[in-house]
Amino acid sequence: MTSTGTPSKESAVNNFTIHHEAFQKIIERFGVLLRRQEELQEKLEAVDMSMENIDEQRFLGGEPVVSFVPSQDFEPLFQVAAKDIWPVLSIIFPPLAESLKALGQKLETDTSWAHLCLQAVAHGNAQALDQAATQAIVAPDFLLLALRAAYGPCIAVQKDNLIKNVPIEVWRQAYCPVCGSDPDLATLENHPDPSEFLVSKSGELWHHCPTCTHRWRFVRMQCPNCGNKDHKSLTRFNMPDSLQTIIYACEQCQHYLPCLNLVENSQKINFNQAALNLVHLDAAAQSKGYTPLSPAPWAVFGFDQEKPS
Ligand SMILES: [Zn+2]
Ligand SMILES: [Zn+2]
Repeated sequence: MTSTGTPSKESAVNNFTIHHEAFQKIIERFGVLLRRQEELQEKLEAVDMSMENIDEQRFLGGEPVVSFVPSQDFEPLFQVAAKDIWPVLSIIFPPLAESLKALGQKLETDTSWAHLCLQAVAHGNAQALDQAATQAIVAPDFLLLALRAAYGPCIAVQKDNLIKNVPIEVWRQAYCPVCGSDPDLATLENHPDPSEFLVSKSGELWHHCPTCTHRWRFVRMQCPNCGNKDHKSLTRFNMPDSLQTIIYACEQCQHYLPCLNLVENSQKINFNQAALNLVHLDAAAQSKGYTPLSPAPWAVFGFDQEKPS
């Protein structure tokens, strides 16, 4: 791999800010959230989970590892995470501060509601999300945003345990093999294989998970949302300021995913910050009418702060 490691979080954000002042506010707001999530992940300790049901064949068939563990096993971590992260979300979305405070109180006092929330965020249970949102008298989109923000560090800290008994490296689905999240970023990278004499100049395509931070390889020239492989309806835009930043968009489903070309890049990349640093690509793609594949909050809500109410 040519580009790994974690440069200082502040410098990654500041470098971007200098070049893209128009997006400074979004970068600053969500940079605070990303840093807090990373700090929390460092503080949390993995808990015991029931992992006897992990089924390799079903995993190979496309079910992410988290679908085999009981979602309520995340509760101890999630209680700690929500107390830490939801106040930060209140700073990012001030009009939602009261709602977030009420969610925090409900989480502490209503165990069955907490379990519904965990079914929604860990297992993608849409019915559980609707029920939990109705019970809390909030919009499902807003509840999911809040749940994901707190759940991310919880699944990230469990990741190493969850993947140790599955062949994680053979996964080639568009979504994350650990938590099932859609990616927030694609990267083109060189991973030289010592057994191969020639290294492909075009690189391998990798996806990054904005929820659990996992990275995995995906196939090139395929829409990660609908599976479309028709190259005539797969569009690629380069941004005028950099040949390394690309938008991949699909004309069939109208979804897009930002991409960084790292094939000739020797600089270290903080993959957890990288998609936020490409928020100008989100703005460009959304101005062309495309919908983000990424569930990251700045992609979904970053251009209209009133939206998630
Ligand atoms: Zn993930
Ligand atoms: Zn598509």
